[in-house]
Amino acid sequence: MNIVILGPPGAGKGTYARLLSEKYTIPTISVGDLFRKAITDETKLGKSVKNYLSSGELVPDKIVIEVVKNRLEEEDCKKGFLLDGYPRTVPQAEAMMNFNRIDVAFNFVVPDDVIASRIGGRRTCSKCGAIFHLINVPPKVEGICDICGGTLIQRVDEKPQIIKNRLEIFREKTKPVADYLRTKGLVVDIDANYPIEEIDKIIDQCENYLQTLR
Ligand SMILES: [Zn+2]
Repeated sequence: MNIVILGPPGAGKGTYARLLSEKYTIPTISVGDLFRKAITDETKLGKSVKNYLSSGELVPDKIVIEVVKNRLEEEDCKKGFLLDGYPRTVPQAEAMMNFNRIDVAFNFVVPDDVIASRIGGRRTCSKCGAIFHLINVPPKVEGICDICGGTLIQRVDEKPQIIKNRLEIFREKTKPVADYLRTKGLVVDIDANYPIEEIDKIIDQCENYLQTLR
C-alpha cells in the first residue's frame, strides 16, 4: 500500500501516519526527518540541505526528489509506505508518479479555526521544551511546567494570526499539488474534524477506503 499524506500543518498528519503505519506495518517516510537525519549525520546531502535551510531557501526539487527516491528503494518500503511532507510541488509529484505506483493520497481536511485553536492552545516550556496544551494536555499549575517548573510560553509561530498566515501560505503553495493529484484520481478527502478521543472515526475512513483497494 503506497500512501501519500496531505493536509495543512496542525491537521494531525503525524498522528494519523503513525497509526496507519502500525496498523499496516509499513514505514512512514517523512521528508523532514530524512533531512534532519542527513544534517545530524553530516553527510554531503546534509550539508547542502543545511545551507539551503539556513539561508531560508527551499531545498530544490532535484535534491528532494533524489532523497525520497533513494529512501523508497530501501527494503522496508517493498510492502508499502506512507509518505509525509512529499510531494510539495508539481515537479515532485510528477517525479513520484514516475518512480512509484501511488495507491491513494489521503487529504486530511480540518477547518482553519479548528486548527488555529489546536495549535493556538499549545504551550512550550521555556526551560526544558516540554509541550502542553491548554485543553488536551493542561499543566497541573497554570503557566508552569509539570516536569521542571519552568515557565510555559506560547511560541511566536503558534499565535492565532501567524497560524492563519501559515495556513494561507500553505494552501496557496500546495494547491497545485493537490489539484494535480486530483486530476490523476488519487485524492481521497478525509474528514479530520474530530476531537482526539474520536480519532478512530478518522482512521476508519482511511481503512474503509483501503479495503476497497484489496
Ligand atoms: Zn520544563
